[in-house]
Amino acid sequence: MTVTVITGANKGLGFETARRLIEQGHTVYVGARDARRGEEAARALGARPLLIDITDDQSVTAAAEAVRAEAGHVDVLINNAGIAGPASPTGELTAADLQQVYDTNVFGAVRTVRAFLPLLEVANSPAIVNVSSGLGSLAINADPAAYTAILPAWAPLLAYNSSKAALNMLTVLYAQKYTQIRLTAVDPGFTATDLNGHQGTQSVEEGAAVITAAATAGPDAPTGTFLGASGPVPW
Ligand code: NAP
Repeated sequence: MTVTVITGANKGLGFETARRLIEQGHTVYVGARDARRGEEAARALGARPLLIDITDDQSVTAAAEAVRAEAGHVDVLINNAGIAGPASPTGELTAADLQQVYDTNVFGAVRTVRAFLPLLEVANSPAIVNVSSGLGSLAINADPAAYTAILPAWAPLLAYNSSKAALNMLTVLYAQKYTQIRLTAVDPGFTATDLNGHQGTQSVEEGAAVITAAATAGPDAPTGTFLGASGPVPW
């Protein structure tokens, strides 16, 4: 049984990724911070609901314990839950604004990796997929004009972009530390979801493709990579 945990899977890219992985035979835990939304999504998908608020240490620990008790291991952890945060001009954002976004997009991933690590370590060929963004690429942000074809919606969101850059660094350093776990940061591309008020130009089916591919790439795929729909994304 291939056990996959997806945070923030009650809607958007996480929900669509869950749908695809279930199609491929995975047993999916649909992570949601709201019990009712999680149960509704899990019922619609034929998945298992998992209450998890990634900003709350106790919630994350309890979620890992619930999966340990039921399944005993985790093959794939998808750190998908994320928030956009405020879109105010760069100079107006405060440390508190950034802290709020980092609590979900960065510290949330750290909490989740740490809590689920013992369950990943007992799996045969475990994988962690960090749902990042092209907006987290230092290369793209340093030269946005060169990347307009890749990222037509480039926007200088100080909190969001820097949080995804930090998530990319977590991917690299965890890949170096946990060599038995394949780590991938992925850029789903600009996708119409609640995160961006459905401004995205791709469908969730298109956006979830790279997340699903990273989750199912198999043990021979390289670790510590950053992938988008058309291949490697510059760090
Ligand atoms: P979405 O539809 O807004 O979904 C975000 C999910 O994260 C929701 O299930 C949300 O739960 C959950 N979430 C937020 N904070 C949480 C917390 N503290 N604990 C647990 N779950 C939490 O957005 P999406 O576009 O599918 O985003 C999924 C991921 O893709 C994010 O990491 C995002 O940064 C990334 N991404 C999106 C795009 C895009 O264009 N859409 C592009 C690149 C990367 P609630 O329903 O309770 O709010």
